[in-house]
Amino acid sequence: MSSILNQESIEKIIELCSNKSLYICFTCIIRYSNLREIFMLNDHNDLLTFCKERLSNKNLLNILEKRFINDENKLCQSCLDLLNAEYMMIKAKEIAGHVSTTKFTIDEFQLHICLPFILTLRHLYFCKLFELNPEKVINVKDVIKTFITIPIEKAIQAQHSTTGNYVIELKFDHSQSTMECEKLMQTCQRNVFSPKRFKSSSIVNHAAICRLFENPNNQIVKQFELASIETVCTLDVCISREPIYIAGRYRKLSRNLSQTPWFVNDGNRFKSSVQEKIFSGVTAYIKYSDIKFSSSGREDVDVRMLGTGRPFLIEIINPHWSNDDNNIIAKIKEFINQTHQDVQVRDLQFVPRNESQKLLKEGEQEKSKTYQAICCIDRPFTESDMNILNSVKDLVICQTTPIRVLHRRTLSDRHRTVHSISARPLNVDELIDPEWKEFLSHMFCISIVTEAGTYIKEFVHSDFGRTRPNIGSLLGNCRADIISLDVLEVKLDWPKVIDN
Ligand SMILES: [Zn+2]
Repeated sequence: MSSILNQESIEKIIELCSNKSLYICFTCIIRYSNLREIFMLNDHNDLLTFCKERLSNKNLLNILEKRFINDENKLCQSCLDLLNAEYMMIKAKEIAGHVSTTKFTIDEFQLHICLPFILTLRHLYFCKLFELNPEKVINVKDVIKTFITIPIEKAIQAQHSTTGNYVIELKFDHSQSTMECEKLMQTCQRNVFSPKRFKSSSIVNHAAICRLFENPNNQIVKQFELASIETVCTLDVCISREPIYIAGRYRKLSRNLSQTPWFVNDGNRFKSSVQEKIFSGVTAYIKYSDIKFSSSGREDVDVRMLGTGRPFLIEIINPHWSNDDNNIIAKIKEFINQTHQDVQVRDLQFVPRNESQKLLKEGEQEKSKTYQAICCIDRPFTESDMNILNSVKDLVICQTTPIRVLHRRTLSDRHRTVHSISARPLNVDELIDPEWKEFLSHMFCISIVTEAGTYIKEFVHSDFGRTRPNIGSLLGNCRADIISLDVLEVKLDWPKVIDN
């Protein structure tokens, strides 16, 4: 596609500015003439060469060249000199300085740019003056990105990438910003809004400024005079790392440990938790500003999580660790497993950010779970009882919301499928005391595979008849109770199994 460098529109821009004694820089003139090729060029020099090759009007070119070297030594009233070549080089060096003060070894980075309100105001003002659609004019942010990226890349010796692990955030600010925006709001709103409305919308923000300019009754260009720019923008640089995600499976071997922290009575003491114990391993090796835990479902405080464990995901916000540490996952795993007897982890691994949350939630809702429970009934457990339970196949049960969760769940009837039960009596031969033998003959162990979301305890003890059928009703209306419960398996093909 051949380039369009519109001589007439450049002339018009220069003329309209000079009529109002406004000064805009070389780059802004080209920007308002909407030369899209700007994004194919490396820097300001390229842009000047590009213009020289295509403009036939020597006089016009002369003006542009003078603006390029800024012979009047003025600051641009549109971009506040943000697009000045020299300013950009200085800022690139400043950014490199910031990078070197962090301990990050940046290989790929994203660039986030935040600009002051005054820039929005001035962009809209000049678009109105030049009778241009502000949405269609090349904006300052895109030009900054185009021209500053390469100098930053060179200065910090890293590649820019939209998926980079590090984020360099550039926050430009200008002292005139709030003052000028407020002045504009006051000047224009008097004619447009009622006094009441004027009060409520006096807060300066991007949307409010846009609304002012969109209003056709506002004669902003006539009413409002842009002040000259005396100072350049200040720059705050913030360097952070994108969150990282570590997935794994945990086994909980205690019947007195909750998955997440919870406060006891007075609200000051809180009991330790699976989450905390897993975090301890991360904290030992990675610095971060925040950390979040999620898992594929959860078990009660008194329920153990056995078998291969329950899948979990940790999100680490703004993480930081020594880059030469390749074994960090192995170290975290070892720390957790050696420090805590009641929580063990496996299959620990870094996972990509996008899919993980979704996979975890899917597992919670769709997959079946396998439990093991020690139960007892009010009479000896017989072989025929065992046969009844073993013959259960895809039994649909109805569970009215259990009493113990009624304070946080709505009251309703839910249908869940018990896929299978495998029952066996407890081995009592080793017990010598006949009283114990008598008691143990009432006890049995079941392995039970159910649809996710089934309340196992209630299926055993019936929850005062709120779960139907239940173990007691299946065994001919005896009373049944549960002594202990373990989760044996949470079926989910995520994360990848790496420890066998
Ligand atoms: Zn400018």
